[in-house]
Amino acid sequence: MAATIIDGKALAAKTKENVRAEAEKLSRKPGLAVVLVGDDPASRVYVNGKKRDCEECGFYSEEYALPADTTQEALLALVTELNGREDIDGILVQLPLPKGLNEKEVLLSIDPSKDVDCFHPFNVGQLTIGEPVYQPCTPGGVMEMLREYHIDPAGKRCVVLGRSNIVGKPMGMLLLHANGTVVTCHSKTPDMAALAASADILVSAVGKTGLVTGDMVKEGAVVIDVAMNRNEAGKLCGDVCYEEAAARASYITPVPGGVGPMTRAMLMKNTLKAAKLHQGL
Ligand code: NAP
Repeated sequence: MAATIIDGKALAAKTKENVRAEAEKLSRKPGLAVVLVGDDPASRVYVNGKKRDCEECGFYSEEYALPADTTQEALLALVTELNGREDIDGILVQLPLPKGLNEKEVLLSIDPSKDVDCFHPFNVGQLTIGEPVYQPCTPGGVMEMLREYHIDPAGKRCVVLGRSNIVGKPMGMLLLHANGTVVTCHSKTPDMAALAASADILVSAVGKTGLVTGDMVKEGAVVIDVAMNRNEAGKLCGDVCYEEAAARASYITPVPGGVGPMTRAMLMKNTLKAAKLHQGL
């Protein structure tokens, strides 16, 4: 039987509609400040997308496009100013920062209640103890997709490929809190193919085109492809060999149109939550 395609684009549109409806009920529009340092073209695309999402959700948004030679002090001063602004609920510093800037120090300087990316150690800690304030956007988006398609991780073997702070680790944490049995693989994991092939839910977040071949997918598994790679032809693709995997999977996410749009929708959801918190709701 052909795999069901998990439609991230449709779910993201629905999520943003709900966010907009909720935002309209507030006495003040949710406000998001996006800080972009340097001229990385991929980062520019992401920032433009976030601006569009804010418009769709009826949010107030501000963009700070700073030159690549911005000093650490200037960047920290901007974050401090935004921390103190009542009309700004979320602060997003687009990563990666240009060389020479201390990313950790910048993320630490964001008021945790405005850390809508969920990168601040306070929010990571809250997530780890099972009391998240915000959902980390990409793994949180994956969980929403599973919920939408009535896929319950409880009692399932969940294998996550990749252990980054942004995707792999929080993904494992969310699946664990949802009562999955989680195995996290990384570049030093021996026999990753066999572990992947044992998964009921397989999440790939590595960034290597063609990494997950059909034989690494168990019959009937749920396959979530987080990666956003460019193949040799410059086309956007994931880690998973889609056709081979789809022939064996029960559910599968496409790239594009899968996890990517949901990541963006989750940022809007987190910003709405921040606005509610700041308005005492
Ligand atoms: P990252 O920081 O580069 O982490 C990659 C992870 O993959 C690392 O943990 C690394 O292991 C592991 N790895 C590398 N080679 C491996 C191999 N051969 N076998 C098993 N594991 C291997 O990347 P990231 O930020 O997590 O992003 C991963 C992918 O997701 C990228 O394609 C990125 O573009 C995409 N992404 C998509 C979204 C979205 O919205 N859809 C959001 C964020 C990221 P070590 O730790 O041992 O080095």
